Amino acid sequence: MSLAGELLTLLFPPACAACAALLEVDAPFCEPCTFATEPVPLPGCRRCAEPLEQPGVCPRCLRAPPSFRAARAAFVHTGPLARAIHRFKYEGHSELALPLARALAEASRHWLGSLGGEPVLVPIPLHHRRLIRRGYDQAALLAGALARTTDLPLRSTLLRRVRATRRQVGLTEAERTENVHRAFSFRGSVPAGPVVLVDDVFTTGATARAASAALREVGARWVYVLTLARAVGEANPGRFGL
Ligand SMILES: [Zn+2]
Ligand SMILES: [Zn+2]
Repeated sequence: MSLAGELLTLLFPPACAACAALLEVDAPFCEPCTFATEPVPLPGCRRCAEPLEQPGVCPRCLRAPPSFRAARAAFVHTGPLARAIHRFKYEGHSELALPLARALAEASRHWLGSLGGEPVLVPIPLHHRRLIRRGYDQAALLAGALARTTDLPLRSTLLRRVRATRRQVGLTEAERTENVHRAFSFRGSVPAGPVVLVDDVFTTGATARAASAALREVGARWVYVLTLARAVGEANPGRFGL
């Protein structure tokens, strides 16, 4: 191990991203937490991965087809995974970007390889005011660590959040859509190949739709969404048309 690597291990000994238990091996989660993480159930909506009884497209995507081609999430937003995301996002544990990106890479390697061409990773950005408050942009850290883990190119400045938005938590689906409408602007050159938007959680997909619409408007043809977690069932109000 390099000196920098040894120093990092001293500063951040391998620990479970969810419960902080120290680990003997370098892994995202301890054994009980690994056991309690849930992959998103299959079959899922071809567009947004919402779990369905049978393969097809979910009512929401039929009603309003998303601007992205397909969304993929590694885990259900519950249990240890939700705890890990909370620690990463709200409790200052920015160092969790790497173990969480590794878990995401492992769960999505096959999907990333199936997109055709070399996908470019683009984080869904925070507004600068929230960035200043939090001190870091969790989607940017996650996308950066994912790029390092997968060797895929990263374009972290392609999208900019131009409008400060309210937190999406607690808003209805219609409010979420309104809240993020035209919240993003694009700068730079449009990647020719597939673009994969990276974020921590996919809830109703309103933010992903708005970010992807900004890319589609400037001519990006193949926009996908990859998140660490996805709200499913009762945690996803849109599923019941509320
Ligand atoms: Zn644990
Ligand atoms: Zn859908």
